[in-house]
Amino acid sequence: MSITFDTSYTDLPARFYAPQAPAPVPAPRLIALNESLARDLGLDANWLRGPDGLAMLAGNRWPQGAAGVAQAYAGHQFGGWVPQLGDGRAVLLGEVVGPAGRRDIVLKGAGRTVFSRGGDGRAWIGPVLREYIMSEAMHALEIPTTRALAAVATGAPVLRETSRPGAILARVAASHIRVGTFQYFAARNDIDALSALSDHVIARHFPQADGPLALLTAVVNAQADLVARWMSVGFIHGVMNTDNMSVAGETIDYGPCAMMDSYHPDTVYSSIDRGGRYAYANQPKIAAWNLAQFASCLVPLMGPQDTAIAEATAAVNAFAPAYQAAYLDRFRAKLGLADQDDGDGDLIAGLLDSMAANGADFTNTFNALAHGNARDQFIDPTAFDDWAVRWKTRRRPGWEDIAASANPAVIPRNHRIEQVIGAALAGDEAPFHDLLRVVSTPFDLAESDRAYSAPPRDEERVLQTFCGT
Ligand code: AMP
Ligand code: MG
Repeated sequence: MSITFDTSYTDLPARFYAPQAPAPVPAPRLIALNESLARDLGLDANWLRGPDGLAMLAGNRWPQGAAGVAQAYAGHQFGGWVPQLGDGRAVLLGEVVGPAGRRDIVLKGAGRTVFSRGGDGRAWIGPVLREYIMSEAMHALEIPTTRALAAVATGAPVLRETSRPGAILARVAASHIRVGTFQYFAARNDIDALSALSDHVIARHFPQADGPLALLTAVVNAQADLVARWMSVGFIHGVMNTDNMSVAGETIDYGPCAMMDSYHPDTVYSSIDRGGRYAYANQPKIAAWNLAQFASCLVPLMGPQDTAIAEATAAVNAFAPAYQAAYLDRFRAKLGLADQDDGDGDLIAGLLDSMAANGADFTNTFNALAHGNARDQFIDPTAFDDWAVRWKTRRRPGWEDIAASANPAVIPRNHRIEQVIGAALAGDEAPFHDLLRVVSTPFDLAESDRAYSAPPRDEERVLQTFCGT
């Protein structure tokens, strides 16, 4: 079999990307292949497992018709402007059009590109396994996300603090177009490119949008929904730079991300996020900040500038109410509430405040609501009882089913991911496959897998994650 690649992105002008073939690796070995995703893409899993497929996933075989480019983008990293970033270690093979629609296939860790700056263009097995598990768990949690098609060990070492085994992730996304892609051209005053990019994104992701203002509104709404979903599972992205915000509304760039164990709004995992800019509770504010950067890229396309600025500002300001509505929807469902009441925001905040004060586990507290034992999660269980008095007056018959379908039994806990990476480094990939299996059905935890729902013991706690380099 061969893959028919489509090239709508590389039909854009040449300044959007740099032609780039992946650099070959010495001894590729398939760590994991996502067969159900392969089917969604219209790809033959048996072929992907075979010598030709593996060679393609490792970057050793150049598939016919593949685009082979590194994409250009810029971005604000921790609020600081960087005029040129781009794919420093990712190569876009091209787009496939299958039952799930049009999807990019990118090899991450495929070697140096013109955008690599000082980097080696490679990835090691730790971040590759982390991204594989996290992105597949997010998908199973019904959160829009890039996906993992395959992880391949390269057989070549990668030098980090120490020498590590190299790996490549085959990543699938609706597209890899970021807020930072727009910023790249806006910063260069390249109105023709901005216009072409805007048309491309509308045609590809938001065909109902009739121009740049409608595009802005569509991206604002997609991000409001996305970030509300993150918040509803305790997800902390960790590096919400504008180059890591997809205009398609998917979660992208699983670097230092993690999901919370015990709830606290100030939780930060990323070792480089010293000021807590990307802490759990800051994520909606940061999303709005990023969207303001996006808006300023679109203003030049929006006709007379004073009205354009007013319209763009109003579109960005609409993020807060859209987010608030999406957040309330998600957390109402977590409490089992089907109808709406003005006091719901306070009711939700009351539980979360009490959880923070009582060291309650985020996932397990919400999951336990429908089982009647959530109070056990609280240092002082009467704090839960006090809150539950109000909650009980709001519940309606059938609330347990609503809560059960909104509260996962298991998430990819950070200490589990670290254990899996440690085992893989020692040559045992079975724990990776087992964790992946469990978090792929997060609402449905077998009794024999119960241990995966346990928070870390003190000595297992992992408080910091490191960027995926
Ligand atoms: P990230 O922090 O993963 O969003 O990456 C930020 C920028 O650094 C992007 O332009 C990446 O392509 C680039 N980058 C990250 N790791 C490497 C690496 N090992 N080699 C080259 N470029 C990298
Ligand atoms: Mg990135």
